[in-house]
Amino acid sequence: MTDRRTGGLDWFRLWCALLVIANHTSPLQTLSPDADHLLTQVLARTAVPFFLMVTGYFLLPAVEEKGRKALLPFLQKGLLLYAGVTLLYLPLQLYKGYRPGPLQILRDLVFDGTFYHLWYFPALLLGAALVCLLPRRGLPLWGLLYLLGLLGDSYYGLTAALPAGKTLYDVLFLCFDQTRNGLFLAPIFLYLGGRLTKTPPRRDRRFYGWAALAALLLLTGEGLLVKGLELARYSTMYLSLPLVMWLLFRWLCALELPQRPSLRRLSTVVYVVHPWMIVAVRGCAKVMGLSELVVGSPFLFFALVTLSSFGGGVLWCRFLPLNRPKKVPSPPLALPRPLDAPRSPVRCWAEVDLSAVRHNIGVLRRCLPEGCQLMAVVKADGYGHGAEQIARACAAQGVDAFAVATVEEGTALRRSGVSGDILVLGRSFPAEFSDALRYDLTLTAADDLHAGELAAFGSPLRVHIAVDTGMHRLGFPCGDMESIAALYRNPQLKVEGLYTHFCTADSGEREDIAYTEEQARAFFSLVEFLRGQGITPGVLHLQASAGILHYRGLPCGYARPGLALYGVGGGDLRPALTLKCRVAAVRTLSPGDTAGYERAFTAQRPTRLAVLTIGYADGLPRALGGRGYVLIHGKAAPIVGRVCMDQTLADVTEIGEVLPGSEVIVIGPGLPAAAVAKSAGTIPNELLSRLGGRVERVYRETSSP
Ligand SMILES: *Cc1c(COP(=O)(O)O)cnc(C)c1O
Repeated sequence: MTDRRTGGLDWFRLWCALLVIANHTSPLQTLSPDADHLLTQVLARTAVPFFLMVTGYFLLPAVEEKGRKALLPFLQKGLLLYAGVTLLYLPLQLYKGYRPGPLQILRDLVFDGTFYHLWYFPALLLGAALVCLLPRRGLPLWGLLYLLGLLGDSYYGLTAALPAGKTLYDVLFLCFDQTRNGLFLAPIFLYLGGRLTKTPPRRDRRFYGWAALAALLLLTGEGLLVKGLELARYSTMYLSLPLVMWLLFRWLCALELPQRPSLRRLSTVVYVVHPWMIVAVRGCAKVMGLSELVVGSPFLFFALVTLSSFGGGVLWCRFLPLNRPKKVPSPPLALPRPLDAPRSPVRCWAEVDLSAVRHNIGVLRRCLPEGCQLMAVVKADGYGHGAEQIARACAAQGVDAFAVATVEEGTALRRSGVSGDILVLGRSFPAEFSDALRYDLTLTAADDLHAGELAAFGSPLRVHIAVDTGMHRLGFPCGDMESIAALYRNPQLKVEGLYTHFCTADSGEREDIAYTEEQARAFFSLVEFLRGQGITPGVLHLQASAGILHYRGLPCGYARPGLALYGVGGGDLRPALTLKCRVAAVRTLSPGDTAGYERAFTAQRPTRLAVLTIGYADGLPRALGGRGYVLIHGKAAPIVGRVCMDQTLADVTEIGEVLPGSEVIVIGPGLPAAAVAKSAGTIPNELLSRLGGRVERVYRETSSP
């Protein structure tokens, strides 16, 4: 789920309203017909898709969450607005001599709209109904419809060249004027808008900004090409338009601006009223005898229409209740629940900053010798950060090897769409081998017995051999050189790598350093032996995070960072995770009062206690009771009494105003995981990997440190 600071979308809607006015007034007409074409027939064509995407962005998650009944209020409101606006333009239509037959009326109401800009409303309603009612059809169907639309729009020249194509579209054009309607144009953009809420961004704001700009250039090129080849029947749909819109939308979301609902309303009203303003400005100019001046200089005309439309829009929003949100009585708790983010985290959540992970990848890469790649360790759900999202963020940085602990974790990762190598570090069991084969996982051969099971499976499995150089956990004893060599010669195994694991690489003690160096030496002498036997040992790896940071320059193919990837370990690393909860209530105790289970806390002075919405079931170690801290308004509040399953008490006597609903930092800036773990008598790995299933994960992209 993404954090919704969607002000960028609100601002851009305003810009789109401006583009639509430009589209209908051609401000550059006299300056340069080409520039005008580019503005009105190419760039301005981003406006309507954008409106559609914004709708999809808010509507589809609601439908997904609450079911199709969430579509009803949307359709009701939309139909009402559509009816109102149709009536608003009826006088103009009649004045222009609009005398439709019944079929024409039907066609106009369902597809074309009864006035030139009104096609948007039926397109929106029809498209939304389609996308919400056929939710499983997804991109292939909406993409196909869009392509069909294209062939009746910007690329109609191609279609018309084929007799069959021409006949087909002739029939279609009996049903509607244009293919830019609810059937062909709207669904894909509504769908893409909804899709954006489900896929966290893989890159940062700057990337999306530049990419959107590049895509706009592509669109410009396509627009010029279509024009040059004279292919267009109408120029509203382009092949590159969905790409442009996707990148643009991502960029606007990544700006993380605060929401501006008033701009949202204003842009709708401007869209609705501007054709009236076009008529009004023309009429006024005529009455005042200024027609030649105003209509003769398109830019002035555009400016006047814009001014009057926005002026009218502001007045409308002020005085007409239509389209204004109902006043909701403010809730008694100050829980921030913005209108458009019903799913923003409430009780207890972990914010994961994917740009920090990217930063850490860079730091680690600088520690590695030439030719050594990262194998990102994402076991235990990415140390509590979310394996899938972390793996995707890594993949976007060119990491193409991953390590997990179990076949099940590997399977889940593969099913979420992660490609590249996935190594299972733990011991696997025969019942899991068929999954390993099916999902193309690489298994660890842990010892003789295990290797026998692997070889007996029937189909050769991909394998890395674990070597025990001193940890005495899994692995072939390093001295068993012959049996290790035999594995390479066994045709029932595809041995692709050889690895070992340090057990004390993070220690600075002289003895521990010697021990680690001995582990490395033993490993490389095994490698020498294998090479002497004419065996290519495959890819070699031995360092986890501490090994990468403290034992540089080991000649391997992979290094396997876990903890450091998530920013734990100090130095230049940047922690990716912030764990937060809220204040549920504040209590005042008199001296001598006790609090919590076993009455473990006794107030020595008048004390204010905050009840926090986190407990040991969420992964807050029970050992922190009486020992740890949380941060409220940036100040440390001691955790007191016993940590409960779902709640915890903190002493906030020394902290200014603390209200129910206030945010509390449990791990994060000013309170690093390593320090919290230390207070609890454990290590950050344990702390992070035990964050509970109730802790919601929220992904964000900030590039500031
Ligand atoms: C967990 C694990 C790692 C990653 O360890 P970190 O200390 O988190 O970097 C690497 N290799 C193996 C074999 C592991 O089990």
